[in-house]
Amino acid sequence: MSTLEIKNLQVSVDTEDGPKEILKGVDLTIRGGETHAIMGPNGSGKSTLAYSIAGHPKYQVTGGTVTLDGADVLAMTVDERARAGLFLAMQYPVEVPGVSVANFLRTAKTAIDGEAPKLRTWVKDVNGAMEQMKLDASFSQRSVNEGFSGGEKKRHEIVQLELLNPKVAVLDETDSGLDIDALKIVSEGVNRYVEQGDRGVLLITHYTRILRYIKPDFVHVFVDGRIAEEGGPELAEQLEAEGYERYVNA
Ligand code: ADP
Ligand code: MG
Ligand code: MG
Repeated sequence: MSTLEIKNLQVSVDTEDGPKEILKGVDLTIRGGETHAIMGPNGSGKSTLAYSIAGHPKYQVTGGTVTLDGADVLAMTVDERARAGLFLAMQYPVEVPGVSVANFLRTAKTAIDGEAPKLRTWVKDVNGAMEQMKLDASFSQRSVNEGFSGGEKKRHEIVQLELLNPKVAVLDETDSGLDIDALKIVSEGVNRYVEQGDRGVLLITHYTRILRYIKPDFVHVFVDGRIAEEGGPELAEQLEAEGYERYVNA
């Protein structure tokens, strides 16, 4: 069983005025088979947590540890993190002009597996994943994220999730900018990934809407760089009714 363990994580971000402390001691353990939702108001540090796990250079870890199956994630390069089985879908995916979706997916798969995928099964897998996300076959010839609609960006990330099949997936606001049909398609993709078993999901979201389609085992409320409350799915329902006000004004 794979386990991502975050202990007392403290992170500062580089700003023009110098480093600014954002994460103030985050503890979180995600075991294979578990779906965790992190919910919280804007600016509470949810994306900072995702970027820190991803190894973004702007985010300086000033304390604490992150391990995947005991291995020190923070000591790994971004590539090594992916090879170790971490997948990060960012809130604002970057454009990669001149690199087609097909090439991008193949390069990512090759980097993670350490060898190129067998062509025949690979093409079939890619087409299958595209089809399940209701993306046209011509999509694979487009430049990564260039001119993609919000929905296409998120569907493309779930195509990656399906093909790369990581141990732990961190999905940052995978629901933002999706209409109800796209939200269902994206959620079904995440659920297929979860149903394989022994897969961990950290689902970061501001809204409770996606949690009608993806059922979290644990809900963590993130406020001002810390987990302010934790519970089961009922906590999401409570947040839907009450919002974040009582945490923010506490
Ligand atoms: P959330 O995802 O919960 O909305 P973020 O992690 O994006 O929160 O941001 C948390 C805080 O850190 C905010 O106050 C934000 O302005 C600040 N912050 C995050 N990234 C940067 C950055 N690259 N430069 C300056 N400030 C940042
Ligand atoms: Mg935000
Ligand atoms: Mg964010």
